[in-house]
Formats: sequence, C-alpha cells, structure tokens
Amino acid sequence: MNRLKEKTAVITGASRGIGEAAARYLAEHGAKVVRAARSSGAIEAIAADIVAKGGKASALSCDVSDHLAVAALMSHAQGTFGSVDVLVNNAGLIDPISRIADSDPEAWGAVVDVNVKGVYHGLRYAIPVMQAQGGGTIINISSGAANSFLEGWSHYCATKAAVLRLTGVAHKEYGEEGVRVIGLSPGTVATDMQVAIRKSGINPVSQLDPLAHIPPEWVAQAIAWLCTPAADAYLGRDFSLKTDEGRAAVGLPCVG
Ligand code: NAP
Repeated sequence: MNRLKEKTAVITGASRGIGEAAARYLAEHGAKVVRAARSSGAIEAIAADIVAKGGKASALSCDVSDHLAVAALMSHAQGTFGSVDVLVNNAGLIDPISRIADSDPEAWGAVVDVNVKGVYHGLRYAIPVMQAQGGGTIINISSGAANSFLEGWSHYCATKAAVLRLTGVAHKEYGEEGVRVIGLSPGTVATDMQVAIRKSGINPVSQLDPLAHIPPEWVAQAIAWLCTPAADAYLGRDFSLKTDEGRAAVGLPCVG
C-alpha cells in the first residue's frame, strides 16, 4: 500500500459507514484524505481524530447533488494537499424504500440526484484534474443492485445500474490518459444503510441475518487495493467483494 503514501484521496459520504472506514484506512496507509458529506460536525470530528493520530486529513461540507459544491470540493483538495489522486464516489442513499406505485416522486428524484448525479459530478470535476496530473483513480461505489431487480428498490437498482454505465463510459473516454475508473460492489455491509433496509421489511435483503454483513473496514481494504495496478483487470467495470476471487485478491477471508 506504499502507493498511497502522500497521495490525496477525496472521499464523499465520509461521515459514517463505508466512507468513514475508507478515510481512516487510507490515512493509516499514508494518504492525505479529504472527507466530504453534508454533516459537517461528523466529518470534522473524524478528520481531527485522524490528524491527532498522526495522519493528514481535511473535511469539507459538500452535498454531492450540487455540482458547484463538488467543483469546490476538488478545488479544496488541490488547494489543501496539491492534487486529487484518488476519488471515492461513495455518497449514496436508499431511503425511502417503497414499491413504485407507493413511491414519492420527489424523494425518488432526490435519490437520483445523489446516487447518479453525485457520481457524475465527481467524475466531471475530478477527471480534468487527473488529466492535468497525468492520471489518478476514481472508484464508484456500486452494488449488486446494479445487476438485479429487488422489490422496493426501483430507485436504488436504477441508479446503481446507471453508475455502472458511468464507470464504463468514463473508462472508455479517459482510460488511455491514465485515469483509472472502476466500480466496487461490496456485498452487504454493516452500516446504517443496512439498518434502514432491515427496518423496511420489503425484500429478501431486509431478512438477512445482520451477522451476514461484512464490516466496512473490509470495503476500505478493497478500496485501497483497487488503487493499485493489481486491480487493472477490473477497470471500467464492477469489482465484487461477494466472490471468493474478489476476496482473495484483496486478502480477505473467502465467502465460505
Ligand atoms: P451510510 O452509512 O448510510 O452512509 C452514507 C453516506 O453518504 C453518509 O456519510 C452520508 O453523509 C452520505 N451522503 C448521503 N447523501 C449525501 C449527499 N447528498 N452529499 C454528500 N454525502 C451524502 O451508507 P453506507 O452503507 O456507508 O453506503 C456507502 C455507499 O455504499 C453507498 O453508495 C451505498 O449505496 C453503497 N453500498 C452499501 C451497501 C451496504 O450494504 N451498506 C451495499 C452496497 C453498496 P451525510 O448524511 O452526512 O451527508
């Protein structure tokens, strides 16, 4: 993981869950991390904790559905640490969970604004910085929902499928310039999102034993691995942590 040393990693949705774990893990491995989320208190507290432990971190309140805020986030990373070497497009929503005919069109659209437009905004403003630097890595947090059909998750399945397409197109457009764009489908992870899913009671994922979920720290380890050339075979598509092949590549226990 020496490759992360002194690299600047911008992580959206870093106030809790996978984003928090990724920021802590990358900082422990020498990266300068810029944490972004809407909850400024949480990201500032975690950034302060990373700094207190000898790491380098900064925090900026940012709603990824606002393209000007995402542009400002990339400028903040460059101004603070001099580059944007890694972007983890992690911010995402699943609430409210409801079948299509019961869904609220405004709330459905708000999920599109974060899950799809938020990822597009990250690509839009990180790619020019990475082109100018001669390369970088963008990891879009995907889901098995990108390739499946689950009741109550029309917004989530549709938006994660769109993210997978964005990953493929961005790789096609900028891969030859050294901009590595890759998706990460983590399987089920023990975060607040799974608590909301369980509460909905709507589809088989809500019935899973919480002990079946992997810890967010495993996803953080996968994110770090995806930043290395060892993961190049997955550029432009989703890498899955639900397979033994994926777990073994990252150095995690097999599915069993
Ligand atoms: P989580 O614990 O609910 O965290 C979601 C994060 O996204 C929070 O930090 C939240 O911070 C941030 N966020 C939400 N809306 C935002 C916005 N408009 N702008 C900026 N940040 C925003 O969920 P998680 O499980 O860690 O999920 C992280 C990613 O993994 C998501 O993309 C999710 O779809 C994906 N994923 C999760 C699982 C799972 O089982 N948990 C499985 C597959 C994929 P604020 O509220 O402070 O803004």
